[in-house]
Amino acid sequence: MTLNNILESNEVFKLQNYIGGKLIEPISKTYIDNFEPATGKVYSLIPNSNIDDVNLAVIEANKAKEKWANTSVEDRHKILMKISYLIEDNLDLFAEAESKDNGKPEKLAAKVDIPRAVQNFQFFATAILHYNSSASETIGTAINYTLNQPIGLVGCISPWNLPLYLFTWKIAPALAAGNCVIAKPSEITPLTSYLLSIVCIEAGLPAGVLNIIHGNGADVGEAIVSNDEIKAISFTGGTSTGAKIASIAAPKFKKLSLELGGKNPNIIFADCNYEEMLKTTILSSFSNQGQICLCGSRIFVEKSIYAKFKNDFVKLVSELKVGDPKNSNTRIGALVSQSHFEKIQYYIDLAKSEGGTILTGGKVGKIEGRCENGWFIEPTVIEGLTYDCRTNQEEIFGPVVTIMSFETEEEVLKYSNSTQYGLSATVWTENISKANRIVTKLDVGIIWVNTWLLRDLRTPFGGVKNSGVGREGGFYALDFFTEKKNVCIKY
Ligand code: NDP
Repeated sequence: MTLNNILESNEVFKLQNYIGGKLIEPISKTYIDNFEPATGKVYSLIPNSNIDDVNLAVIEANKAKEKWANTSVEDRHKILMKISYLIEDNLDLFAEAESKDNGKPEKLAAKVDIPRAVQNFQFFATAILHYNSSASETIGTAINYTLNQPIGLVGCISPWNLPLYLFTWKIAPALAAGNCVIAKPSEITPLTSYLLSIVCIEAGLPAGVLNIIHGNGADVGEAIVSNDEIKAISFTGGTSTGAKIASIAAPKFKKLSLELGGKNPNIIFADCNYEEMLKTTILSSFSNQGQICLCGSRIFVEKSIYAKFKNDFVKLVSELKVGDPKNSNTRIGALVSQSHFEKIQYYIDLAKSEGGTILTGGKVGKIEGRCENGWFIEPTVIEGLTYDCRTNQEEIFGPVVTIMSFETEEEVLKYSNSTQYGLSATVWTENISKANRIVTKLDVGIIWVNTWLLRDLRTPFGGVKNSGVGREGGFYALDFFTEKKNVCIKY
């Protein structure tokens, strides 16, 4: 199956693993159903891989390891740039695939997901050219220099919400730094990573340098984490999966980068730029059906503007078009899977049982035609809950936000910092002193003031508390994917 005709096929096609530079069947020869969330129908089959496929990938990666580590950064740069151009040349196809596989609006995939995957490759292909070793002189006695050497084999495991975006955010720096990679995309959204394997072959990436294995987390994911030859694990996903991974990897002394769940506060002061805040809060609440780890699912609004905000926000949310991800006017697509769809409904029921009032949404989205059996939920706004109830403490990860009022900075800080998570926060105020006071006291790793999800790929990305360990982005990612070797030479 070629890149061009893959989505046009009327047959349920089989994806393949990418191991040792080839597209191959899983060793078990068995497959898992892959659903299109917008229709609820199976449209492709995913290799049901297991530890045998991981072991095979490790053999192939070991064969390629030394040569790739000794490939000049200029040559690595050229290949990674070629991969990026091939994705860019096929942007519409990748966007269509991402939308079909994930349920997100095709327009969003074309505007955000796929361009960001291109950017990830271009950013790290270029960053590696500027990544230099440091030297420290012990004056009069010695000179130290520190080498940044590839680790060897590394594992990259990513989730379903931003499939290619997050997959390439890990793979690109790992490859740029000279490592061979054993990677597993989410079993729920494997299609664009499969397309990526076709692109890598076309770009001339040497065999074994990148291996993409499809299958369940408990089988393939755990086999990657447990394999003694894979020396570092970069994982993005849920907090409980992260804890499981850490419990396997830590006794083996593997390097670990964990980007986990969140329950991010969106703090709105009365002195904000109201129109800008309102427009952005719609995005920070419901982009990608609220399935972005950085979405602000708890909205705290200063009491003096609470009534006005509630009125304006609910009106705009109720106008968001829920529909077929293929339609250009759709703002809210399908949820990624039946189990996730059921989980969101569970949380809406929980919110009601905890005393919450649904101001808009709260129901299954009914779409006629080809999407009548898809997994849609209306964007939902809930008020009347306390900051410490389960709805406001647990990660829902869907099109559901709560709104609450506050009166003082101390009060909103207490609410904001009350969860087990500490990924990101958004603060809206035109008062620079207040903004500076608040940001120092928020227990999170990423803060946006008067904006949301404005990314500069050089900056450290990651959370505190149960939202993760380590930082991705820029030279932080290259530091993670290299071993530092210090050499001290006495004069
Ligand atoms: P999961 O933790 O369920 O899965 C993430 C990945 O890990 C998937 O590829 C999954 O495979 C795999 N996996 C599952 N079990 C294991 C295991 N035992 N060992 C190794 N790998 C395993 O997360 P979701 O895919 O449901 O993603 C949603 C979560 O990701 C949310 O909590 C969200 O907040 C978080 N996230 C965090 C981000 C951040 O930057 N901090 C960014 C985006 C999302 P499979 O799918 O086959 O089960």
